[in-house]
Amino acid sequence: MNRISVLKQRLADQIAAGEVVESPASVTKELLENSLDAGASRVDLVVDQGGIKRILLKDDGSGIHREDLILALSRHATSKISSLQDLERISSLGFRGEALASISSVSRFTITSKSDDSEDETAWSLLTDSRGKEAKIVPISHSVGTTVEVCDLFFNTPARRKFLRTEKTEFTRIDEVLKRISLSRFDVKFSLTHNSRNIHLLPAATTAKDKERRVALVCGAPFVENSIAIDCERAGMRLWGWVGLPTFSRSQSDLQYFYVNSRIIKDRVVSHAVKQAYRDVLFHGRHPAYVLYLEIASEGVDVNVHPTKHEVRFRDSRLVHDFLFSALHNALADVRPEVSPSGNRKETLVGDYEGTQSFFSLKASEAAFAHKQDYSSGQSVPQNEYSELPSHAFAQNSGISSDKSISNEPGLRPELDQDFPPLGYALAQLHGIYILSQTSAGLGIVDMHAAHERIVYERMKLDLDKETIVVQTLLVPISISVSESESACLEEHKEELLKIGIELEQAGEGSIVIRQIPALLGNANVEELVRDVLSDLMKYGLSTLIKERKNELIATMACHGSVRANRQLTLKEMNALLRDMEITERSGQCNHGRPTWIQLTTEQLNRLFLRGQ
Ligand code: ADP
Ligand code: MG
Repeated sequence: MNRISVLKQRLADQIAAGEVVESPASVTKELLENSLDAGASRVDLVVDQGGIKRILLKDDGSGIHREDLILALSRHATSKISSLQDLERISSLGFRGEALASISSVSRFTITSKSDDSEDETAWSLLTDSRGKEAKIVPISHSVGTTVEVCDLFFNTPARRKFLRTEKTEFTRIDEVLKRISLSRFDVKFSLTHNSRNIHLLPAATTAKDKERRVALVCGAPFVENSIAIDCERAGMRLWGWVGLPTFSRSQSDLQYFYVNSRIIKDRVVSHAVKQAYRDVLFHGRHPAYVLYLEIASEGVDVNVHPTKHEVRFRDSRLVHDFLFSALHNALADVRPEVSPSGNRKETLVGDYEGTQSFFSLKASEAAFAHKQDYSSGQSVPQNEYSELPSHAFAQNSGISSDKSISNEPGLRPELDQDFPPLGYALAQLHGIYILSQTSAGLGIVDMHAAHERIVYERMKLDLDKETIVVQTLLVPISISVSESESACLEEHKEELLKIGIELEQAGEGSIVIRQIPALLGNANVEELVRDVLSDLMKYGLSTLIKERKNELIATMACHGSVRANRQLTLKEMNALLRDMEITERSGQCNHGRPTWIQLTTEQLNRLFLRGQ
């Protein structure tokens, strides 16, 4: 082996560059962060050939003094912190003083700047030569601010250059970086040009509407239309932003933006809290979409965890977790048919999709638009006579729901000018699947099975939590045959099953008798219900089932208890269901995350029929 020697500065920089500079996108991220730290209000990014050939970033920030230009390129040189105390409450994005040193060691690098408090008439440009020996500083004309140009990335480190992807891929990454950062600072104007083509021009956004427009540019308009705006404060923390409706879930976790004090981060505490909050409303394997901002005292969060500063460590992670969870959980619980359709909710319904054809090809997730709510508007849900009717209203199904009964049932068809409840009043049942209702804005369509399932589920959850399950004794006990192991399993868990409202008994070899079930499940096919509970039970064991998978167990039960397709409902029953939906948390989507209702406004219907055009 050779003897030990200290590496040359340049080689050390090139090695260290591996930590922060891995692609044109990571260069872009560092440069953008520097501009924002310099207080820029406008940032123009120009990229050629996916950033491999050139990345140029011009800002109107505070600039750099001539004497500091060389320093800016030295490792561990920063203007952002100077003591250990500073490190503990960082308010800037950068602080490690290594980005420019790293970038300039693996590219042809130029930095030009004019400081806002310098007496110099001119700006100064620092050029490095191709071998990286730092070159000369020359006067140049430039307005206050800084321009950094990075050409031929990795030209001198061929091994790293090999890892570069195609121009297109690298550009996509840069674009994503710009988008992410642009969402962290609505007050800054951004532009992006690629191969002389304008890609984005994002004007500064001050009003709520402007901000939503920027979010729509970055995340797509459907996201904004299918999200709830939230803003909560607690324990010195604030969480605001947009959370996607559960019905707007995605197959990938690609639409998730989380910022802590304007820094985009990935964090396990955060992901876990969000996941928990969505657990009850999201179809298995789907991912929520969100753009969220956490504001927290800088002392409460350590950002010096990773060279790329993508990760943070919360000093009190439990507190942060609980805050995030409860804020999101509450927001999502409020996703139910809106109280006042004439409220300040945006009407982004079907007709906004151009052309009538598109209406018919809408996917369920897109059709969920109708639930858009304004979280901040606060709501109170009016009760009426039908909301008193519990779900067993469905159990006493008369089997008649003829149109003639409509006018005979008093109070079901109020005058039009009367206040409509959010889901309106039932008109008819369609193909045994949907309830059609007249709402104040137009036509409501409710998937009755999906909606009822959610209602039963939410009720059972509450009842189980409060241990107030109402049971119903079966007039004729039902006997089902079971295997020996099933029978043993049931016997073992008899007591606990009683707690969830199921009473059963051995009845000799290979058979059991069910005597009682939760009243909420009055409609259930008892045998199927017990068999499904049994299969969950055999699979997980009761203790896991009750503790960790309680909601799954309830969901299994609720599915059996809810009104089946093809059941004929009376108008009264339909209205009772609509009223139940209005007061049930999370009733905007079923237990599998699909929407339970949509609305077509009269305008949209008019458009479909080309009326008034
Ligand atoms: P850090 O951002 O961690 O301080 P960098 O290597 O990214 O380290 O930058 C070094 C220093 O150069 C910064 O601390 C800052 O003073 C200066 N600097 C870099 N970019 C800019 C810019 N766009 N405008 C003003 N100053 C800048
Ligand atoms: Mg920096």
